[in-house]
Amino acid sequence: MDLPIVYHPNYVAPLPPGHRFPMAKFSRLYEVLLADGVAHPAQFHQPVLPPLNWIELVHTPEYVRDYCEGTLDAKAQRRIGLPWSPQLVNRTCIAVGGTILTAHLALEYGLACNTAGGTHHAFPSYGSGFCIFNDLAIAARVLLEQGLVEKILIVDLDVHQGDGTAFIFQDEPRVFTFSMHCEVNFPGTKQHSDLDVALTEGMEDDDYLQVLGSYLPDLLAEVKPDLVFYDAGVDVHLGDRLGKLALSDRGLLCREMQVLSTCLKQGYPTACVIGGGYADDFEALVYRHSILHRVASDVYRQYR
Ligand SMILES: [Zn+2]
Repeated sequence: MDLPIVYHPNYVAPLPPGHRFPMAKFSRLYEVLLADGVAHPAQFHQPVLPPLNWIELVHTPEYVRDYCEGTLDAKAQRRIGLPWSPQLVNRTCIAVGGTILTAHLALEYGLACNTAGGTHHAFPSYGSGFCIFNDLAIAARVLLEQGLVEKILIVDLDVHQGDGTAFIFQDEPRVFTFSMHCEVNFPGTKQHSDLDVALTEGMEDDDYLQVLGSYLPDLLAEVKPDLVFYDAGVDVHLGDRLGKLALSDRGLLCREMQVLSTCLKQGYPTACVIGGGYADDFEALVYRHSILHRVASDVYRQYR
C-alpha cells in the first residue's frame, strides 16, 4: 500500500487566456507524479461533489447560493479574482470534496495528500484572493460533525496568512489554527490565528526551518490533535511572483520532511493540501508542488 493521493480531472476549469492564476498546474502535477514514478495510477482516489449542507457548515447559505448560481455582485466577484463560470463552480466544489476525502484517507492510513486545496482566504460570506470556499475549514467541520475527531490542528505554511481559516475558527476551541507567513504580504488586514508567526521579508532556508522547528513540536505536544491539516503552499519560494520570502527547492524539501516526519513519528494523522504557488516558470512551479508528494511518499513508507 502506497501513499493515498487525491485527484479529479475537474480540478482544472477553463480561465480566459493569460489569466494570472496558474489553473493548469493541478492536472500537470498529476501528470508529473505519474511520469516521474512518484505515484502509480492505483494510488489516486477520486473525490465526489460534497452536499451543499456540508459547505454551509462554514459558509452562509446566501453566499453559497449566489456563488453557485453566478449572481454575486461585481465587487464580490472581483474580490475573488477568478471569472465566474459553471465549470469553476464545479471545480470549486470538487476541490472541497477532495480535501474532505484527503482527511478521511489520512484518518484511515495516517497520511494522505490532495493535489489541490488550501483556499484559506475564503470567509463565511465572501471569497478573496483566488479562494471561493474554504476547503480546510469545511473538511474540519465535516469531520467534527461526523464525530471522527475531537481536536484538529491546522498548520498553514503558505506564504500568505490563513486569514479566512483563522476568522472561521476564532471561537472554536476544537480547531487550533497555526499560520506562519510573511508579515508584509497579502492580506493587508491580518486575522488572529491561535498562533501566528509573522516572518520578515526575504527570509531564507536556514532561518525559516529554524523558526518552524522552534514551534511545531511543542505545538503538537500541546494540542495533541486527532488530525493535522497541512497547507504546504510553495509561494514561500524565492522564484514566486506573489511571495516575499526566499526559500529554495532544497528548503522546501527540508520543510516538507520536517513537518511530515515530526507529525508521523508521533503518530498524528496528517492530511496535506498543496496551497499557493505562482511562479512564472510553470514547470518549476509544478515540480515545487510535487516535492510534497515526493517527501510524503518516503515518509509514508518509513512510518506506516
Ligand atoms: Zn499563498
